[in-house]
Amino acid sequence: MPACEICENEVDEVYTCKECGSKFCANCGDPERSLCEDCLAYEEEAYGEEEYEYEPEEGESEGWEE
Ligand SMILES: [Zn+2]
Ligand SMILES: [Zn+2]
Repeated sequence: MPACEICENEVDEVYTCKECGSKFCANCGDPERSLCEDCLAYEEEAYGEEEYEYEPEEGESEGWEE
């Protein structure tokens, strides 16, 4: 039986993470997205940053006088 590289349990089936290549069981990641729990957390973080709207400081882009 294959063993999950994350929880180290032997399981019927492991999935390979498309990001880091870890073999993980259904409890340790998302088989549908082929992501282990580590990379899932990372993706959620990245997504969170995407939501954040960056506003440049006022005044810095002004002052073009030629
Ligand atoms: Zn596992
Ligand atoms: Zn991973």
